[in-house]
Amino acid sequence: MTSYLIREATIGAGDRADIHVSGGVIAEVGVGLSANGATVIDADGLVALPGLVDLHTHLRQPGYEASETVLSGSQAAAAGGFTAVHAMANTFPVADSAGVVDEIYHLGRSAGYVEVRPVGAVTAGLEGTRLAELGAMARSEAAVRVFSDDGKCVSDPLIMRRALEYVRGFDGVIAQHAQDPRLTEGAQANEGAVASELGLTGWPSVAEEAIIARDILLAEHVGSRLHICHLSTAGSVELVRWAKKRGIRVTAEATPHHLLLTDENLRSYDARFKVNPPLRTSEDVQAVREGVADGTIDIIATDHAPHPIESKDCEWAAAAFGMVGLESALSVVQESLVNTGMIDWDDVARILSVTPASIGRVAGQGHSLATGAPGNITLIDPAAASVFTTDRLAGKSGNSPYIGLTLPGRVEWTFFRGRATVSSGTLVPVDEVAA
Ligand SMILES: [Zn+2]
Repeated sequence: MTSYLIREATIGAGDRADIHVSGGVIAEVGVGLSANGATVIDADGLVALPGLVDLHTHLRQPGYEASETVLSGSQAAAAGGFTAVHAMANTFPVADSAGVVDEIYHLGRSAGYVEVRPVGAVTAGLEGTRLAELGAMARSEAAVRVFSDDGKCVSDPLIMRRALEYVRGFDGVIAQHAQDPRLTEGAQANEGAVASELGLTGWPSVAEEAIIARDILLAEHVGSRLHICHLSTAGSVELVRWAKKRGIRVTAEATPHHLLLTDENLRSYDARFKVNPPLRTSEDVQAVREGVADGTIDIIATDHAPHPIESKDCEWAAAAFGMVGLESALSVVQESLVNTGMIDWDDVARILSVTPASIGRVAGQGHSLATGAPGNITLIDPAAASVFTTDRLAGKSGNSPYIGLTLPGRVEWTFFRGRATVSSGTLVPVDEVAA
């Protein structure tokens, strides 16, 4: 295995150092290192972060391979600086049994670009009526710790209570897609002035906030871990802030798109901006940014949701919800949070690597860059700024809302377990990664 000597990288928001990567781990971090036979990387001007970890990715396999596969989604992840992703359960068949989660886990292993952690469904078939085989998935080779019906809400309070109780036994977490189904029937856009003007059925903030409030109280009652997926409203931030003050074991994520885009983008009727939960108002965006900055929102998760062109290149009402996000996440976080002075690169390491690994209980990820840590490293050039084009997309689908926007930052190198998956800004071919 090649060893690497990364020279003069800036470690997060801290000092410059050399990093020697060898044998799959960080062999040494220090100043003025030398390493015989190592490939030397001049990292002057680059920021080194622990490999990014996504708690919320849709890899679409099995069942929807025209949109994405475990391999293509892993490539998109590596291109975005990720070394681990959690693959959501809304595949076909649904990932609600040990057999399906192990299949996804093994597809991830053989792809070799990132660690693929399958998320197990909370309810059988995502139907919301009876619990899936949570214990069997936890005991499987994939060792599932995150369970979610994402795409759908676990709306029945008794099923939610039982799920929270069940996963306590193996330190699991229920990740809730908070959306009251009755309050969002036929919903197409954030309920408000823009939706009214455009004639689109509204998705009200209260449909998210009511479920979050209920589930926070259930988590407190049961004494279990709750994670809120893609929180998107100012009111949701307030609820999580209240819960944390009260000592309830709740964590929350926001997506990059809810940090940057608003419902004003919908005026184009371009279905690339159609997503669930919907793009909200600029006041919501500001509240979500502040929630990340003050630690109320624990992590950024992409909700990478690939769709084939025919599902997006159509009229608004018929288009699918969702946007790809793995390749653009770091740039959007830099644009909305770092370049605005709200957080620094150490915070980026925390919200995109350390804490998501901790919530997902992923042992080999999210380590700070120190001697002996696993060789999972992302090197980015924060000074690079470019128009985001489809060239940046490494997955199968092109439904990115950022095409044509100028965004800062670029992933120059990604190392997964000591091997380069991105080399000088270029994705390493599959035969070299899997070798
Ligand atoms: Zn969701």
